[in-house]
Amino acid sequence: MLYQRSSALFAEAQQYIPGGVNSPVRAFKSVGGVPVLLKSAKGAYLTDADDRTYIDYINSWGPAIVGHTHPVVLEAVQQQAEKGFSFGTPTELETEIAKFIIDNVPNIDQIRMVSSGTEACMSAVRLARGFTKRDKIIKFEGCYHGHSDSFLIKAGSGAATFGNPNSPGVTQGTAKDTLLARYNDFEQIQQLFKDNSGEIAAIIIEPVAGNMGCVLPENDFLQKLRQICDENGTLLIFDEVMTGFRLAFGGAQEVFGIKADLVTYGKVIGGGMPVGAFAGRNEIMDCLAPKGAVYQAGTLSGNPLAMRAGLETLKLIRNDTEFYNRIHTTTETLGMEVGKILSEKGISHCINRRGSMMSVFFETDKVSNFDDAQKANHSMFNQFFHSLLENGIYLPPSGYETWFISDAIKDNEIEKTLEAIRKF
Ligand SMILES: *Cc1c(COP(=O)(O)O)cnc(C)c1O
Repeated sequence: MLYQRSSALFAEAQQYIPGGVNSPVRAFKSVGGVPVLLKSAKGAYLTDADDRTYIDYINSWGPAIVGHTHPVVLEAVQQQAEKGFSFGTPTELETEIAKFIIDNVPNIDQIRMVSSGTEACMSAVRLARGFTKRDKIIKFEGCYHGHSDSFLIKAGSGAATFGNPNSPGVTQGTAKDTLLARYNDFEQIQQLFKDNSGEIAAIIIEPVAGNMGCVLPENDFLQKLRQICDENGTLLIFDEVMTGFRLAFGGAQEVFGIKADLVTYGKVIGGGMPVGAFAGRNEIMDCLAPKGAVYQAGTLSGNPLAMRAGLETLKLIRNDTEFYNRIHTTTETLGMEVGKILSEKGISHCINRRGSMMSVFFETDKVSNFDDAQKANHSMFNQFFHSLLENGIYLPPSGYETWFISDAIKDNEIEKTLEAIRKF
């Protein structure tokens, strides 16, 4: 049996941990079967509890963009650990990473560190509400902004996978302040502004969506959002937890040339440690406590080990002028070759790709919103997933997720991946 030890360990985990996992998508509920438990990772490769190895297209859901346990990051974290794990006081290191990010990302004056993308998005929305003195927000179906109550109104990713769009425990009172719109549907946005005139604090969006599979913004959708926000005194929040430091160092703001009012970060920013952040211009960020009245705090925010891992990862990326070219070219090659193989097999498909994010949707020709994503053949994706897993390729375990390409994935890994796909 391929996954003997994993299966035994997972059975035990289920006794002590709800569903056996600390985050739902890991449970393989969408693709079926028993999750593979990992014990180590290096570069492009994962090793599971049964000592099988895999080429990794999850990369911890994005953070491992330079590959796992990069020697430079590893050494820096080891040295930092010698100095203490956490102080709960300000440190010089926090200013160093804040300055480094602000100097290299367009359009942000100040940044506040937190410990997850969820916290970042939750705090950004509170700040937007405090700043505008309005209650309502607009979010898009299929976009995921973490699991705070305001966003679990009809979330993508985990929640969509479980067909559980409205989580019990989220109150009606909270739900009424979140307005939902279809991704890429600007008419709906215009209608929402008409119906809720003067009440909308913010629009929050994944500028390239990654939590309903990879879905790209069409035409001038983002520009139009910027414009309607300006016309209505509404803040535009780019949730760059996935796209930040991935599409480009300056994320979607840089790639699309659009200034967001607030930007949230996570994933890559911590280089694999638990980090999130939100950032914006002085006028807005000055409203945060202790300077302003909008409260937000965290015992482990700006944790030195996490800051060190994040800063060293970001520096590796920033100091390598070919970094983005390389991972984008790798992803382009992968996308085109996967498309060719599927076409040769007579399997209709749609491959959405931007930068180093990519998704394959089966038996559909266009996916530009959550409805489209749901129309894809997900049971075929599930077979595809398991076929690749058995052949040493680890994809995200759901057709509603994005594959993340790291810099450790080279021609050799691409060739092995395509070989596995040919066997499907
Ligand atoms: C992962 C993700 C989040 C949530 O981040 P966590 O660290 O899991 O809390 C928020 N927004 C987007 C776009 C994400 O991809």
